[in-house]
Amino acid sequence: LAGSEFELIDRFFRRASRRDDVVLGIGDDAAVLRVPPQRELVVALDTLNEGVHFLPQTAPSDVGHKALAVNLSDLAAMGAEPAWLTLSLSIPRYDEQWLAAFADGLFSLADRYGMALVGGDTTRGPLSVSVQVQGFVEPGSVLRRSGAKPGEAVMVSGSLGDAALALRQLKSGAAADKALLARLNRPEPRVELGRRLAALASAAIDVSDGLLADLGHVLQASGCGARLQLDSLPRSASFAACSESDAWDLQLAGGDDYELCFTVEPSRIAKVEAAAAGLGVAVTRIGEIEAAPGIRCVTANGALYEPSLRGWDHFG
Ligand code: ADP
Ligand code: MG
Repeated sequence: LAGSEFELIDRFFRRASRRDDVVLGIGDDAAVLRVPPQRELVVALDTLNEGVHFLPQTAPSDVGHKALAVNLSDLAAMGAEPAWLTLSLSIPRYDEQWLAAFADGLFSLADRYGMALVGGDTTRGPLSVSVQVQGFVEPGSVLRRSGAKPGEAVMVSGSLGDAALALRQLKSGAAADKALLARLNRPEPRVELGRRLAALASAAIDVSDGLLADLGHVLQASGCGARLQLDSLPRSASFAACSESDAWDLQLAGGDDYELCFTVEPSRIAKVEAAAAGLGVAVTRIGEIEAAPGIRCVTANGALYEPSLRGWDHFG
């Protein structure tokens, strides 16, 4: 991209920031940022590779949205308030239309959370987008994967399986359901819910690789197990209407949900439900933490169900 690299950055990625905590943004060798007094900095980074994390035909504005959304989902799972982001972009060629639409998707979401893009890197190569986000928590209040205890409720936000079903429909060449497609391409990070959960939940994770895999991380970090009621797994109207024969497997192991899975002491469930209702986000109790390790999936009549897949693993 030699020659046009700086023009590209200026044109598509340098924008006036309304944040007064950006001492120095795009344009020097590094950004300088002011962390508020009495706050801890929370940092996360996620990469989307074309052909691995999104299909080649994905609209550039959706790629921009999703690259930030998956990172915001990590901040949400920590209970953090988003502040800044950096962007590492590898693109095969200087495609103005692609870049304009990509930046539009990225900044639309960043603006909703008052975030500033403060730096990054731009290179030529296979299409790949890495975003790093930074946010704040009050000291000691971050939500971790460890902390789940036997007797607590396992809860999940929103609905599960939509993105996996959309991907299946796209790959089969059928017309994909619009609502399901939106869940795949434009996930809504549960940032506000995560911030409320920081004071209410015992442990949390965002569901990106599939419920079993991600809840499994919580259980491993917490040294316990869980029982899940399959009939409680929340379904969207579109997902329910499709009535796939392997619906449970899609919900348990499909991935790309970007919902929060968290555990709550029974005495705090009502507070969590009230907080979620106030935000207009559904939360559903899907099971219980148990002392015995492992995840037991139980059907309505109490039978154990063995899922066919356990989740997404790039190197598995
Ligand atoms: P250097 O060679 O010193 O690493 P670069 O040429 O990579 O500098 O970047 C110049 C400036 O532009 C830096 O402030 C960098 O953070 C910023 N920048 C580069 N690419 C991006 C991008 N894709 N998004 C936002 N800022 C970027
Ligand atoms: Mg650089």
